[in-house]
Amino acid sequence: MHQLLLVLLGLLTCICTRHAVAAEVTAVVRAARILDVEKGAILTGHEVRVAGERIVAVAPATSGSPRRGVTILDLGDATLLPGLIDVHTHLIDDAMEYSPAAPLTRSGAQMAYRAIPNALATLRAGFTTVRDLGTYRALVDVALRDAIDRGWVAGPRMQPAGAYVTMTGGAGALTGLAPDVTLPLELRFGVADGPDQVRQRVRALARGGVGVIKVLSSGAILTPGSVPGAREFTDEELGAAVDEAARAGLKVACHAHGAEGAKAAIRAGVASIEHGSLLDDEGLRMMKAKGIFLAPNVYEGEADAAASPGHTPEMLASGEGLGGALREVTRKAHRLGVPLAFGTDAAVIPHGTNAKQFAEYVACGLTPLEAIRTATTNAARLLGWEDRVGRLTPGAFADMIAVGGNPLEDVKRLEKPLFVMKGGGVIVGPSGVAR
Ligand SMILES: [Zn+2]
Repeated sequence: MHQLLLVLLGLLTCICTRHAVAAEVTAVVRAARILDVEKGAILTGHEVRVAGERIVAVAPATSGSPRRGVTILDLGDATLLPGLIDVHTHLIDDAMEYSPAAPLTRSGAQMAYRAIPNALATLRAGFTTVRDLGTYRALVDVALRDAIDRGWVAGPRMQPAGAYVTMTGGAGALTGLAPDVTLPLELRFGVADGPDQVRQRVRALARGGVGVIKVLSSGAILTPGSVPGAREFTDEELGAAVDEAARAGLKVACHAHGAEGAKAAIRAGVASIEHGSLLDDEGLRMMKAKGIFLAPNVYEGEADAAASPGHTPEMLASGEGLGGALREVTRKAHRLGVPLAFGTDAAVIPHGTNAKQFAEYVACGLTPLEAIRTATTNAARLLGWEDRVGRLTPGAFADMIAVGGNPLEDVKRLEKPLFVMKGGGVIVGPSGVAR
C-alpha cells in the first residue's frame, strides 16, 4: 500500500512537471518546412515551441488556438533551421579599415564601439553564435561578449579568444615597428616565447574570461614580415598551450597555413586548424584520425580583400596562390571525411556577408546539407556547445532562422534570412501576434 502510494505520488509529480513546462510556452514558431540538420530531413506540419529563451518542443502543429499570452509567429512558405555558427570571426576588427598600424591608433573604447555594428550585422545575417578568434587589443572581445550576454548591445553568442598567443614577431603579433618601440601590454598580451611564457599567457587569458585559446603555428598573410608557409612555435610551446588551456577547460584553435606548422599543432592536440591552406595528405589523415576540425575560409579568396586600402602589395603577394590551394585542401578534406566547421575569418570579409561561404563550400564538393552542418551541428561540436546551439531540440537556446524556399535545393537562400531569432527574441522578421 505504502509503495503504491509512492508510485501514485511519483506519477502525479511527473504529470505536474510536464504540465508546468507546457504552461510556460511563450512563443510558437511555424513554417512550411523545418530542417532537421542532424537527420537531413524536412519536417512539414510542425512547429517549434519556445519557453523564454529555450526550445521546449518541436512537434506537430497544434490546430487549436493556443492559450492567451503565447506569441504566434507564422512564417508561411519558409524553411526554419537552427541559428548559424561562424567558428572564425574577428568582430572587433574591420578589414576594410585595416592596416598594420591601425591597432596603434585606436583606444580600447574606440575599438569596442566599432565592434557594435559588426556584431549586429553578423546577428542579422543569421549567425546567432560565433567563435571570435582574436583581437589586437586584448580582451575587448570578452567585454563585447559580456555586453551582449547582459543585453546591453545586440550580437551573437560569443566564444572569444581574448588575444593571439603567438611568438615574438609571429603571425599574431603587431610587427613592422622600429626595434626600440615597446608596445603596451594590451597590444602584446598573447606574445610568448618558450613553454613557460606560453603557459603564463594562456593562464592570463583564462583568468581574463576567454572562451577559447587561439594560437598561431605558421605565418600569416596580413602580418608584415611573416611568411604564411613558415613554421612558428616549437612542439614544446604548442604542447604547453594545449595542456594549459585544457586545465582551464578551454579548447585551442590554431591558425596554420603551412603543412609543418599545422601538423605540429595537430600532434599537440588542438581542436581545430584555421585556414590550413597548405595542408598535405598526411596532415589531413592525422586530422581525420584525431577528429580535429578544419575551418577553411574559402570565401575569403573570392571577397575583394584587395579593395582594402590598408593591404600593401607585400601582403597581397604573400597571399597569392593560397586561395586556390585552400580550395583544393577543402575538397580533399571533404573526400577524406575530415570534420569541417564553417569559419569565414570575417573582418577580412565584410561582417554580415558570412553566409556567402555556403555556396563556396558546395563548389568544393559538399552537399548543401553538409555545408549547413558545418555551420550548425559540426560547429556546435567544435565549440563544445552541442547542448545549447546548432540544433532545434528541447533544451537548446531558441536560436533559429528562416529562409524563403528550400536551402537544400539552393544554399544561397541562406544569404538572406527572412527571420532571425536569438534566445527567443526576434531580431529580423515579423515579431508575431500575441494572443
Ligand atoms: Zn583570423
